Formats: sequence, structure tokens, C-alpha cells
Amino acid sequence: MSASATGPLHSDVAIVGGGMVGASLALALAGTGRSVALIEAVAHSSLAQPSFDERTTALGNGARRIFETLGVWQRIAAQAAPIRHIHVSDAGHFGFARLEAAAHGLAAFGFTVSNRHLGTVLWDALRLRREVQIVSPARVVHAQLSDEAATLDIQEGAALDGEAARTPRRLHARLVVAADGAQSLVKQAAHIDSSTHDYGQVALVTSVRTERPAGGVAYERFTADGPLALLPRHDGSYAVIWALAPSAAEALLAAPEEQFRERLQQRFGWREGRFLQLGRRATYPLSLVQAHASVGLRTAVIGNAAQALHPVAAQGFNLGLRDAAVLAELISMTEDPGAAAPLADYARRRSADRRGMIAFTDRLVRLFRDSRPVVTAARDLGLLLFDLSPSAKQALSRLSWGFGRLPRLARGLPLTGRPAATPRELP
Ligand SMILES: Cc1cc2nc3c(=O)[nH]c(=O)nc-3n(C[C@H](O)[C@H](O)[C@H](O)COP(=O)(O)OP(=O)(O)OC[C@H]3O[C@@H](n4cnc5c(N)ncnc54)[C@H](O)[C@@H]3O)c2cc1C
Repeated sequence: MSASATGPLHSDVAIVGGGMVGASLALALAGTGRSVALIEAVAHSSLAQPSFDERTTALGNGARRIFETLGVWQRIAAQAAPIRHIHVSDAGHFGFARLEAAAHGLAAFGFTVSNRHLGTVLWDALRLRREVQIVSPARVVHAQLSDEAATLDIQEGAALDGEAARTPRRLHARLVVAADGAQSLVKQAAHIDSSTHDYGQVALVTSVRTERPAGGVAYERFTADGPLALLPRHDGSYAVIWALAPSAAEALLAAPEEQFRERLQQRFGWREGRFLQLGRRATYPLSLVQAHASVGLRTAVIGNAAQALHPVAAQGFNLGLRDAAVLAELISMTEDPGAAAPLADYARRRSADRRGMIAFTDRLVRLFRDSRPVVTAARDLGLLLFDLSPSAKQALSRLSWGFGRLPRLARGLPLTGRPAATPRELP
């Protein structure tokens, strides 16, 4: 990274968006010999941070291994809760299935962690890496791509808070990474179209303490209102993620606490005893957003910018983290990270995982929202057959590793990179 006090900045790789996936990529690239600029609009510690917010994320074993290789797992694990059992049921019908991690030789299927804690760990680690130039709070307001370089205009700091806008700072990079979420500006600048399928559902997210403290069991209940997940958290409470019709979500968001608790209890049942204290409620509209390409001129697209999924299978971040892991691996091995060849490799390496995970998640949403009696009966039978099938369970327990070849970081192999080539002059 090179910069004069106010002149243009230069870097090998510019990551736009320092949310869960962009920050993970920056960390993966530190130590590979590449200069990296990470541009994030909202400070990671701000209550308004849209990625590191009140939510709880379920990390699979693949994600755990990547974070282990990056040297941050111990700190994440200090506030993570293991998922040792999964209980899936079709509320009001006969179908159910149980999965036990031990039956598959696993200590846990995965771990839950609060997004805020994940943000603290990743950003604390990034601040120790001199190769990563952090430009935050700062928003990329314009991106231009040419055969030679990506050029970004960045509106820094206070202008974001309503003060008179300063002249944007310019940054030149060999590669720009779109990690700026589903409405990615970078993706648009690279002329990469997206398709959006609105599920007509909103995720209502909160936490709840139950009479029996949470201890290793994750619940997925398919209710008449929509899928309801309770994930154990390290403080003994459950994270609640409830996908609902927008009108139902709005009503429950505004409902007095007592009324909300009763409805939740009624839908979930009494398996964990009485529902006690509730946390803050927040909602997220749910769509499937798919970029039509994962690369463009001097551009790679990762995380939500590449694919934003319904949270029913808790795979969105896990998938985005593998985007970051594969991209970091390819960047570490190449002289010019924005050249056509490594970008084509990235697109090829990510396609099976993207397609597989999008299809799996989308089918699950559609299957469990169909209330026709014949479909309900078939899926309940499917759940029971699944419950009796060790091989089907074994396949599901491997889901968190994704489809296709594993990235080096997920195999426990650090990225060393090759020495950076003599820098070519950028514009
Ligand atoms: C309710 C819910 C529950 C979920 N639970 C799980 C789960 O359990 N497991 C799982 O794997 N996944 C889960 N997901 C999915 C997961 O949240 C996403 O996959 C993840 O947020 C993707 O991170 P990201 O960094 O790609 O994008 P985002 O989280 O959208 O972050 C984008 C970042 O870019 C920044 N930005 C945007 N534009 C600019 C700009 N122009 N300049 C600079 N910065 C910019 C934003 O400020 C933000 O920090 C869940 C999603 C939802 C909605």
C-alpha cells in the first residue's frame, strides 16, 4: 500500500466492504505479500454496523477450520457455543428428525457466535497487520474499471455524518473485491447483473432465555407462519430466527413483550420449558440475490454481493467465507491478482459450491412453505426417512464444508504467498 498524505492511494487489492466476509478476506490476505486496502463505510464497533450487528451466526466446522488457520479461532471460541444436537420438526405434523454430532464422530456440527463478537475479533486482528490499510469509516462512491486497474473514489469520515462532502480520495488497485453486500456498488460498476427473488418473508430476530438454559441443542421448527430456529448461545440463552410473512413480522415486532413471548412459546412448544426474558427484536427482509457472474474486469465478487441467501439453512456466511478463502489462495499465488487468468480460476473454483448451496437453501424454503396436504405428507415422510438414514445424515453433517474442492485454509494450510513482483506503475 502506498500513499502520500492526500494523494491517491495504491494497493494490490482493494476490498470494498469490511463486513463479515470482507474483513475475513483482508485477514486471509495479510501475510501473503500483497498490499491490501480495506474500505468500510461503518466503523465495526458502531451500533449502526449492518454486518456485525445483533444477530447470531452459526459457523460450520469448515468455517471453524478457516478461522483456526487464520489464528483467530481461540478468541472467537471464547464466546462461541457448540451445536451438538439438531432437532428438526414440522410443527403440527408428524415429521421430525434428530442429528447427533457424536454419531458422526464430531465434537459439534458447528458453533454459534454473535456477529458483534466476530467483528471485534476480526477487526482487532486486522489492526495488528501492517499490510492491511484500513480506510474506515469511508464509503466508495464511484468505481471505474479498466484493463490496467480499478480506480475507486472514496468519501472519507465525517462527510458520512452529514458534514459538507470533502473531495473524494482516489485509490488505484490491481483488483477490486466487491464485499459490499447484496446491493453492491462495485458489482454494478463492473456491469455484473443480479437477479432477485423476493421470498415474501421477513426474518424476525431476537434472543430468549428459557427455563432450561440452552445447552448444545439447535432447533429448526417448520411452523405454519414460517421456519423458526432456536440456536444455543454461549450465555445460555437462545438466538431466535423466525421467518414470517411481512405483515406478521411487523405485528410481532410491535407487539408487547408478553404477547410476543406467548406467541413464540405457542409456536415452539415447551421442550425447553417456559420462555423467560426476551432480547431486542429486529427484522431483515429475505430474498435470494444472485450475481450473474462472480468476476468482471479487475473485479471479484464475494459474500452477499455474490449471493445473499435465506438464513433457513444458516449457510450464507459459511459460503461467503469460502469465497474469501478461495480468492485469497489464488491471489497469494499470482503476480497480478486482477489479471484475467486468476479471476477465471476463482469463478471456476466457486461455481459448484455456489450453485449447490443456493439450490439446497432455496429448495428447503420452498418445500417447507408449501402447505398443500400432499406436499406436507411427502415432506414429513421424507423427514422420517431421513431420521432413519445414517448416510443421509452423514451427508448433511458434511454440508458445512461446502461442495467442490476445499480451499487450503479449510484444510489447515496457511497462505504464505510468493514475494510480490516489482510493482508496476498504476495510473
Ligand atoms: C437473519 C439472518 C441470519 C443469518 N444467519 C446466518 C447463519 O447462522 N450462518 C450463516 O452462515 N449465515 C447467516 N446469515 C447470512 C450472513 O449474515 C451473510 O452471509 C453475511 O452477512 C454476509 O456478509 P458480507 O460481508 O458478505 O455482507 P454484508 O454483511 O452485507 O456486509 C457488507 C459490508 O459492506 C459495507 N459497505 C456497503 N457498501 C459500501 C461502500 N460503498 N463502501 C464501503 N463499504 C460498504 C457495509 O457497511 C457492510 O459492512 C444470516 C443472514 C440473516 C439475514
